[in-house]
Order: sequence, then structure tokens, then C-alpha cells
Amino acid sequence: MTFAPLSRYRLYGRTADYWKVLLRFGSSRETEDSAIQELEKDFAQRFGATSAIAMPQNRVGVHLAIRALVRPGKKIILSPYTLSDVINMVVCAGAVPVFADIDRRSSNIDPNEIEKLIDEDTDAVMVTHLHGLICDMDRIVDICTRNNLALIEDAAQACGAHLGDRYAGTFGDAGVFSFGMYKNVNSFYGGMVLLKSAEIDVRIRGSMRDFDTMRGGALRKKAISGMLTDVATHPAVFRILTYWVFRYAYLNNVEALNRRVRIEDDPRLKREFPTSYRARLRPVQARLVLNQLDDIETHLEHRIDVARIYSEGLSDIDDLVLPPFFDDGRHGYLHYPIQAERRDDLIRHMVQNGRDVAIQHLRDCSSLDCFKEWYRDCPVSRKTASELILLPTYPQYTLEEARKNVETIRSFFGAGNK
Ligand SMILES: *Cc1c(COP(=O)(O)O)cnc(C)c1O
Repeated sequence: MTFAPLSRYRLYGRTADYWKVLLRFGSSRETEDSAIQELEKDFAQRFGATSAIAMPQNRVGVHLAIRALVRPGKKIILSPYTLSDVINMVVCAGAVPVFADIDRRSSNIDPNEIEKLIDEDTDAVMVTHLHGLICDMDRIVDICTRNNLALIEDAAQACGAHLGDRYAGTFGDAGVFSFGMYKNVNSFYGGMVLLKSAEIDVRIRGSMRDFDTMRGGALRKKAISGMLTDVATHPAVFRILTYWVFRYAYLNNVEALNRRVRIEDDPRLKREFPTSYRARLRPVQARLVLNQLDDIETHLEHRIDVARIYSEGLSDIDDLVLPPFFDDGRHGYLHYPIQAERRDDLIRHMVQNGRDVAIQHLRDCSSLDCFKEWYRDCPVSRKTASELILLPTYPQYTLEEARKNVETIRSFFGAGNK
């Protein structure tokens, strides 16, 4: 038995760059915004969009895109298996969320469900390319075209994933990205909207006219917590200290510590767009993102290599639901998601055997109490939300570690070594 895993998560980007962010706040370079324009131009060109607008967070981009594309009181069909605050952004935009159930293997919205739900009040469809897997865009684009619906893509987890030479975020009218802390491009907070139409660009920029620069305090706090996470999950520290502390806490139910590793998505209904969201990305964050863009491709290739190990190693276990395996870039594998009915027992087995993996913290928003006004029965989403585990794929995660995860999962199911 080996007791020295790598951490379930690591920040993307280089530690030295993050220190620069912390140190450069408030300097004169920080006040000029040419970096923002450079980033917007680079992003639009790199992924093949008409224009790009930098955002303080993905969810703000979702909100502004909906405001620009959906009339008040009209419906937008979307996946319930996402961040609850994304649903809030729909509600704050005055649109009506209509939950369409997901497909069991892909965890993405099911095109058949979309088609069933369209009526005369439907204005748009929003898809989420979850875990980096591009949704069934051939069918969904066709459905939207035939029914004259706007199409928004939440590409928060799919930056760099591509179907042939089309990138995630460029199939619809708006594609929204996140540069949040645990995404594959990280500026602590941040995001981007890619657009097809110059008219929508003008409309969204117009609604941001009174947005202020993001508050330094909030960003600095996030950056410091990010740096501490970076130290705690550094292999040298994680393997001799962090892992053991959190392993002990997990096996002995030390709630004060367990709480720290749960990424809490506090589901609360918001009807008013929060004033703290009315913010602009800072130039120093734009520089941070610019420094990471050239790594997207190699990082994607690494994640596919790790996913191949999981896919080949686990495909014969009938009690697991695995995502489809693609090595052509249409699945970005931000994580490798597996679903197991006995999730808690499997996690415990993995911790006991010296592994470190995460529970997917997203919820089935269609059955949340705070959204009961828009309740729809989405049994697949509900089941997936209770069974999904994320296996690590990040750039420093070695193939050897992935193989150990496979071995441990196989031993749980009594499957023996392959
Ligand atoms: C992270 C994430 C978001 C939110 O991104 P922020 O930049 O934190 O607003 C939205 N949707 C999905 C699918 C995400 O993974």
C-alpha cells in the first residue's frame, strides 16, 4: 500500500506569476487597461469569434448575455446540473429558467429534452460543456436554428476544447468562460464572453458602462487564499503533511477541517443582480491570463493522456458510469468524472488506501428548494448529482498517480488488476 498521493486539485498557472499579481496591485501599470484590450483581441482571434469582452466572473457574463439575448419574461432552456448561482443570473436577468434533463453518460443537456420543452415563449437555449465535454452541438445548433432561438454556451469548464477546428464557446451567439481559481486558466476571479455579433457586443458593453474596477480587497483575499492552497497542495508539502491532516479529519469526522475541503455552493435564490458583481476585470489579471493562453493546448493533451488511463482501466466495471472517451479535443477533461451508486463507500475506500479524489459539488438545481418556482422533474440530473466523483487530470498529475487511482477503484469493486 502506498500512502503518498498527489492532491485532488492544483492551481493552474505559475506560482511566480501569482506573486507578481499580489505585488503589482495599485502600481501605475495596473491602472492602464491596454492589457484588457490585448486579452480580448487575443481571445477572439485564438478561438475564432467576432469579439470578446472581459468579465469579472463567468456568471456575470452569463447574466449579461441573457439580458442581451432573451426578452424579459421569456424562457431559456438549460441544464439543471450546474452552479446554483448560474440559475440566479437567469432569474436576475428577468428570464424564466426551464430545466431540461441531462444525459447519463455525458452529464450534458439532452437534446431530446430540449426539443420537448420548446414553446412559443422560448427565446433561448443555454448549454453547459461540463467537465470540458462539448455538448451535442450538431443537433443543438440545428434545433436552435429551426426554432429561431438564441444559443448561449457556458464554457467555464471547456476553455480550449474543440470539435474539429471549432472551439467551445463559438457555436452559439455567446460563449462564456471562467478564469476562476480552479479552472484551467486562473486569475482568481475573471471570465470572458465570446460573441458572434457586433450588435450584441455593443449592447453588452453598454450595460457595463457603470461597472467599476473589481475591488482590490476581494481579489487580494482570493489571491492569498490561492497562494496558501498552492503551498498546501505542493507535492512536497501535501505528501508529508496536508494529506495526512485531511485524511485524519475525513476518517474521524473532524467537521472543522472537512468543511475546508468542501467547495460550498450555497444555494440561495437571488432576484437582484448583486452590486458586487458589477465589476471589471483588472489589467493585472488580464496579464495573468495572457501568460497562460499558450499552455492551454499542451495542458489539454496531458489531460487526455490521463483520461485515457482512467477510461481503459475502468471501462469493464459495470457498476461505474464513465464519460465517453475522445482523444480529438472535443472532451477537455478538466476532470475525469465517474459515477458510482455507492459513492461514499468508494470515497472512503480510496482515502483508506491513500488516494485523494473529490466529490463533484454541483447540485441538481431543478430539485433545489430555493428554485421550487421553476421545479421540473429531472431524474437523471438528480441521480448524477448524488453519484459523481472527480478524478484528477491536471498538468502535474502523473500517469502513475492515475494508474494508482484505477487500481484502488478496481479493488473496491473486486475487479482485480487489468
Ligand atoms: C466555475 C463555473 C461557473 C462560474 O464561474 P465564475 O467565474 O466563478 O462565475 C459557471 N459554470 C460552470 C459550469 C462552472 O464550472
